[in-house]
Amino acid sequence: MSTHDNLSRALNKCIVLLVDDQPIIAEGIRRMLADESDIVFHYCEDPGQAIQMASDIEATVILQDLVMPDIDGMTLVRFFRANMQTRNIPIIVLSSKEDPHVKSDAFSNGANDYLVKLPDQIELLARIRAHSQSYINQLERDSAFQALREMQKQLEASNKKLQELSSLDGLTGIANRRQFDESLDKEWRRAARNDLPLSLILIDIDFFKPFNDNYGHQAGDDCLIRVAKALKETIVRPTDLIARYGGEEFTAILPDTNAEGAAVVAEKLRVAVESLNIKHEHSKASDHVTISLGIADKSDLPDLEALIHKSDECLYEAKESGRNRYIIANKK
Ligand code: GH3
Ligand code: MG
Ligand code: MG
Repeated sequence: MSTHDNLSRALNKCIVLLVDDQPIIAEGIRRMLADESDIVFHYCEDPGQAIQMASDIEATVILQDLVMPDIDGMTLVRFFRANMQTRNIPIIVLSSKEDPHVKSDAFSNGANDYLVKLPDQIELLARIRAHSQSYINQLERDSAFQALREMQKQLEASNKKLQELSSLDGLTGIANRRQFDESLDKEWRRAARNDLPLSLILIDIDFFKPFNDNYGHQAGDDCLIRVAKALKETIVRPTDLIARYGGEEFTAILPDTNAEGAAVVAEKLRVAVESLNIKHEHSKASDHVTISLGIADKSDLPDLEALIHKSDECLYEAKESGRNRYIIANKK
């Protein structure tokens, strides 16, 4: 496609491709279009080249002869329709006579219009312009739609980025892992500096995989939202933090609280989730959704990684010993 044709398209010009084996017809049509500044005329004498040429010049309308020596015009219409690049370009078939059968055949093969040649100049110009314009409009709609889709994708990506940068979990609205990491680091240093207790509870929903597998991912998400809300509402001290740790795991950071105090909180959290009464027929721990909890406090531990590790061990033990319960480090 030449820059000239590109420019033509940009200016909403009609780019006409005539496919006809008779140069005399081409000459006749060329003359009819010659004085029209909004019409660019191309001629293809060899039907074998027609599809390639239509796509190269980015034709906005095709004038197609029906009777040619090597290939039947109807077949060529079907080829235009089957090809990705040309499938929507309007086709006006040029027939040598007015014949209802031929006409009906042409339309059913995918032609958009039918003219007997040589057509009247005024009619030919009007039809070329009408078909070209509707094709150009359609291309513009398609590309606007494409641009809109692209913008939506970018918006989704930046929302996701924003979510990552924010401190809230996108699904449940409670603190996310990022806020948990920052908070625990801050609380650990504060507790160490002032020699104060600090407890951590790790919380994991029991048999959540079978819940998802049986009730579906959406029900799983709804369950996570309700559990998160119940956990958050159970925590009363403003310095305590409930966060979503990962998939179906939550955590509570309890500053100024030793393991015994944390056990009281843990039991309240367990009861709060149990009391939601979310039916779970595929749990081996209960008829309803339950959680297991592991508790550790800071005493005698070298760093916060050890605190996380210790509460994780307790969580594992709570799972092993039957679930729907809490286990405290060193007080088993
Ligand atoms: P256990 O009692 O031992 O904890 O068993 P479980 O099935 O809960 O444990 P597992 O860790 O094997 O399964 C966790 C499942 O949680 C895997 C996944 O299906 C589900 N899950 C994790 N994140 C999400 C989430 O964001 N939404 C939903 N709907 N499901 C999640
Ligand atoms: Mg888990
Ligand atoms: Mg689980």
